Amino acid sequence: MRLSRFFLPILKENPKEAEIVSHRLMLRAGMIRQQAAGSYTFLPLGKRVLDKVCAIIREEQNRAGANEILMPTIQSADLWRESGRYDSYGKEMLRIEDRHGRDMLYGPTNEEVVTDIFRSYVRSYKDLPLNLYHIQWKFRDEVRPRFGVMRSREFLMKDAYSFDIDRASAETAYHRMFVSYLRTFERCGLQAIPMRADTGPIGGDLSHEFIILASTGESEVFCHRDFLGLKVPDASVDFSDAAGLAEIVKTWTTPYAATDEMHDEATWNAVPAEDRVAARGIEVGHIFYFGTKYSEPLKAMVTGPDGKETPIHGGSYGIGPSRLIAAIIEASHDEAGIVWPKSVAPFDVGLVSMKPGDADCDAACETIYRELEAAGFDVLYDDQDTRAGAKFATMDLIGLPLQVVVGPRGAKAGEAEIKVRATGERETIPLASVVARVS
Ligand code: ATP
Ligand code: MG
Ligand code: MG
Ligand code: MG
Repeated sequence: MRLSRFFLPILKENPKEAEIVSHRLMLRAGMIRQQAAGSYTFLPLGKRVLDKVCAIIREEQNRAGANEILMPTIQSADLWRESGRYDSYGKEMLRIEDRHGRDMLYGPTNEEVVTDIFRSYVRSYKDLPLNLYHIQWKFRDEVRPRFGVMRSREFLMKDAYSFDIDRASAETAYHRMFVSYLRTFERCGLQAIPMRADTGPIGGDLSHEFIILASTGESEVFCHRDFLGLKVPDASVDFSDAAGLAEIVKTWTTPYAATDEMHDEATWNAVPAEDRVAARGIEVGHIFYFGTKYSEPLKAMVTGPDGKETPIHGGSYGIGPSRLIAAIIEASHDEAGIVWPKSVAPFDVGLVSMKPGDADCDAACETIYRELEAAGFDVLYDDQDTRAGAKFATMDLIGLPLQVVVGPRGAKAGEAEIKVRATGERETIPLASVVARVS
C-alpha cells in the first residue's frame, strides 16, 4: 500500500478527550473515529489490526473444534422472554420496536439466539459435543462508555457457545476454550492471566476472566507471581485429549488468581508476600459454564444414551477483539507511539522514501516495495513528499515492527537503513539484502 493512496488521518495534537494511552494513540494514529458516545468507526489502519486479531481468534477457535456462524445483531424480544432475561437484563439492553410494534433488541450477547438454533436441529446426544461461535457487533448501553474502544457501547465480540450431554463433557468443552484462549492471547503478544470470576447476569457456577495486567485496567486483581512464568501450550496441543486439557487447566488454575468480586483475603494472605501481585487489570475474555440455565426454559433437549430426553449443559465464551486492540497498545507502546507485536501489526514493514522524485531513490524504493510484496509482506510505502521529521514521527506513531529507510545517497550507494521499532536498533544493509533481512 502506498501512503499516498492510504487513508491515514494522523492527529498532530493529543486529543483532549483521551484519558488513557491506548485511546490517545488510536486516535492519533488514525485508527478509529468516534461516531457517537461509545461508538467508533474503525479507519483503515484500525481495521487492518482488527482483522489480524480476528484471524488469530478464528484460527484458535477452529483449532479447538468450534464452528463459525454469523447471527444477526437485531434479535426478537420473544426469545428473551422465554429465557426470562428480557426484564432482568436491564438498561444495558438497547430495546427497539419495529413498524408492526414488535419488540426487538440489539443483541448484547447471544445465548438465546444460539440455543434456539440448537433446539431446532439437534435431537440426539450423538450429535454432541457442539460449539458454535461468531464474531459480531454487540451493543450494551454502558452507563459510562469511556477509554475509546476499551469500553464502548457498540463493540465487537467473539462469542462461542458449547452444548454437551452432561456436566463432565461440558467441563471438557470449557477446558477446550480455556486452552484456546491461552493460545489466542499469547499469539496477540499478551500475557493473559485466567482469574476466577463472578458470573454476573449470564449465570452459572464455573467462570474465568482472562486479565491483562495494566495500570489503566478497570478491575482490581490479585494473583500469584508464578503466572508470569507459566508456559502456554503450543500449536500441537491435542484438543481431543480431555485428560491432557484438564491437566493444562489445572496448572493454570492452581496458583491464586482472582478479581476483586471473587477475592478471598484468607487464601491471599497464605500466599508468600513476595509472590503476591496486586494490580489492576483489563478483562479481555470471559468464559462461563452455566449448566442448564438456558436449555431448561428454552427446552433445548436431546435424547441421551438411555433414550431419555435431557436438557443440554451449556457454556459461553467471549473475547472482545476491539477491547483487545486497546489492551495490546496499553501493554506495548513508548513515548513515540505504538509498538505492535508482529502478529497483529497493520503492516509488516514501513518503507520510507526520503526523497520521492529523486530517480535513484524512486528506483530503489519501487524495487524493494515490489520484492517485499512478492515475498508476501504487507508494506506501507511512504512515497509522499513530506519533511523527514514528519515521516519518522508517523512511522514511529503507527508502530510497524520494521522500517526500511531509503535516501538518495544510500540509494546511489546501493544501501538502505533498517530500523527495528521495538528496540530502536538501526543498521545499514545492501539494498539487495532487504528482503532477506525482513524475512
Ligand atoms: P466488563 O466487566 O468490562 O463490563 P463484561 O464482563 O460485561 O465486561 P462479558 O459479558 O464477559 O463482558 O463479555 C465478554 C467480553 O466482551 C469481555 O471480556 C470484553 O473483552 C468484551 N466487552 C464487554 N463489554 C465491552 C465493552 N463495553 N466494550 C468493549 N468490549 C467489551
Ligand atoms: Mg459489562
Ligand atoms: Mg466483567
Ligand atoms: Mg465478563
